[in-house]
Amino acid sequence: MKALMPRIEISLSQIRHNAQVLSELYGRQGISLMGVSKAVLGDPAIAQAMIEGGVKFIADSRIENIQRMKNAGVSAQFVLLRTALSQAESVIENVDISLNTELETIKALSHYASLHNKIHQIIVMVELGDLREGVLKCDLSQFIKKTLALSHIKIVGIGCNLACFGGIKPDNNKMHELSQLADEIEKEFSIDLEIISGGNSANYQWYEASEKVGRINNLRLGESILLGCETVNRKLIPGLQANAFKLIAEVIESKDKPSLPFGESCQNAFGSVPSFLDRGIRRRVIVALGRQDILVSGLKPSDDLEILGSSSDHVVLDSNNYDLKVGSEVKFSLDYGGLLAAMTSPFINKQFVDYA
Ligand SMILES: *Cc1c(COP(=O)(O)O)cnc(C)c1O
Repeated sequence: MKALMPRIEISLSQIRHNAQVLSELYGRQGISLMGVSKAVLGDPAIAQAMIEGGVKFIADSRIENIQRMKNAGVSAQFVLLRTALSQAESVIENVDISLNTELETIKALSHYASLHNKIHQIIVMVELGDLREGVLKCDLSQFIKKTLALSHIKIVGIGCNLACFGGIKPDNNKMHELSQLADEIEKEFSIDLEIISGGNSANYQWYEASEKVGRINNLRLGESILLGCETVNRKLIPGLQANAFKLIAEVIESKDKPSLPFGESCQNAFGSVPSFLDRGIRRRVIVALGRQDILVSGLKPSDDLEILGSSSDHVVLDSNNYDLKVGSEVKFSLDYGGLLAAMTSPFINKQFVDYA
């Protein structure tokens, strides 16, 4: 069979391995994991590999992805990471636990939960400085009080999200702050918070450096499981596989050309006037892949190849004078942005390379 191109090759055994190593690592201090599936659009086989690796929950930001996994028979506790008021009824129908920060939305959830005869579980997200989602600390007590008054909502935990928007580190201070808030809320309202969700793939350094994790007993991990790295410095976590995903594209032109464009300069397809270094005549290679498919800055070519630039449907590489043949394959590894875009492109075939 002729291999399809472009394609993304996915190793389920590597993903399962990563989930397993991380489950054991964090499990040593009583921290359970949510496997975050949004970067892979809720691919059911990948979610299954995470579950086999030991994650207790599957979390996604989109209901459509959760529906996709449920329809495929994936069985887990499903967590919605991003809750929209307009989707309240669908949240109740499809999701076990949702992350929330707005009373309006939680009221709507309670309303639909009562219509569907359900009790909906929520985790209240607290703002600890990264300035994406979260209830401010000064508003938290009132927020909890009003939420507890809703008949069909159960607060199962609190959480925070750092290192996503504002680039604020999840350090000991932040985790201590979240632990303290958990204690305070439990005391003030005489409730038990089962889940204290301290963050995401950026929490690795904190975990490794701290002897005590306080009340933190859950993390939501996407990138660490999928790409094997933490996300404060994007370093590989010891024992994890970094290449569960490989992007492969076809060479459609391979020629010796000057390294400087010739003629009168003007804007390129994306509105900028590019500049180039004169390195004389070089072997240039074009692969059938473009900005419509991929975040080109998220691609790392193997061997000695270097990306010179790209347009909607072409990526141009310097092959270091290596004679790549038309029709041959070029392999790239991916960062999170590259993975996200590649998984979302309808033009990139998704291929599982092992079923072990
Ligand atoms: C995407 C997301 C995560 C996962 O982040 P990673 O850096 O991929 O581990 C965790 N929590 C929330 C709220 C998210 O939106």
